[in-house]
Amino acid sequence: MRRKTRKVSVGQIGIGGDSPVTVQSMTNTDTADFEKTFGQLRVLEDAGCDIVRIAVPSVESAEVFKYLKNRGVRAPLVADVHFDYKIALAAVSAGADKIRINPGNIGEKWKVREVADACRSSGLPIRIGVNSGSVEKKLLEKYGSPSAEALAESALLEAEALEEFGFSDIVLSIKSSDVQTMVKATKIVAAECDYPLHLGVTEAGPAYDGIIKNCAGLGALLLDGIGDTVRISLTADPAEEVRAGRKLLSALGLSRKGGINVISCPTCGRTRIPLIRIAEDYQERTKNLDTKGKSITVAIMGCAVNGPGEAREADFGIAGGDGCGVLFRHGEICEKIDEDRLVDRLFEETERYIKEAE
Ligand code: SF4
Repeated sequence: MRRKTRKVSVGQIGIGGDSPVTVQSMTNTDTADFEKTFGQLRVLEDAGCDIVRIAVPSVESAEVFKYLKNRGVRAPLVADVHFDYKIALAAVSAGADKIRINPGNIGEKWKVREVADACRSSGLPIRIGVNSGSVEKKLLEKYGSPSAEALAESALLEAEALEEFGFSDIVLSIKSSDVQTMVKATKIVAAECDYPLHLGVTEAGPAYDGIIKNCAGLGALLLDGIGDTVRISLTADPAEEVRAGRKLLSALGLSRKGGINVISCPTCGRTRIPLIRIAEDYQERTKNLDTKGKSITVAIMGCAVNGPGEAREADFGIAGGDGCGVLFRHGEICEKIDEDRLVDRLFEETERYIKEAE
């Protein structure tokens, strides 16, 4: 069962409560280059990103929100601010939909209050993002290291710093590059408060390693009903983060946008077609395909003897023969296809299926 949380609104999108789990990413363009940042936002939107975060290193660069809103960006935008409360205030004025700050690094209480008041009057939530590097000195002394307990206590103390000013439209994230620490810390916080939680393994590495670490940690929490929005943080193209996030939600049955779930066999001595290449080509061609909210299971199987039967639960799929293959729907073979037409035919079938579902 999903953990009960309060709900906050980021533009048109809810986080927590009964809102579906959302996928976030972050631009890595120079924020001051508004046009380039706009270009990347479009790419992230096309990849299915629900919420986009933008680093705001200066008061001047906060104007990016005004620019992006004027250009018709649909995704809600989060201003990522460190240290300077004036930048947070500028981001609120320029049209950001959420502010990410840590009260602890904003400084004096009156500055935190200014940010809280500005967000309250504009109806913006604040995300507090705690990670191993942000844990306060006194907690490091108390726990000896940025342990799960230290991270959890830090997040709750940061939330208190906003609650002090009557502000409770808060999302919390507790990140670590260590999967077990992240999971443990998040579970502690989940048990101690009802704030919605943003999940992520930070500094997780390049795509392959990073996706495994994130999915291990986030999967464990999401299956326990914990987590309201996710970012698969990768040293890679941000669009990859979005695709990985969407795939994770889809694999856990939590996707509200539908998508294509490919099931494919591991190949064996019976395989007579280049199945690995076929599966990769198909995934590449469909990676940004809008399934109009429909969840489709597509099978790519090595042999027609076992394939259609093993993949009976698929909506449709192909199974290999010798230099050719067959198309099947719900386990029933319906058409023979030349090997070099298999990917094209599978793609056509996918488009037909989406169209029929409209
Ligand atoms: Fe082997 Fe056929 Fe099973 Fe693929 S579907 S693993 S080719 S038996």
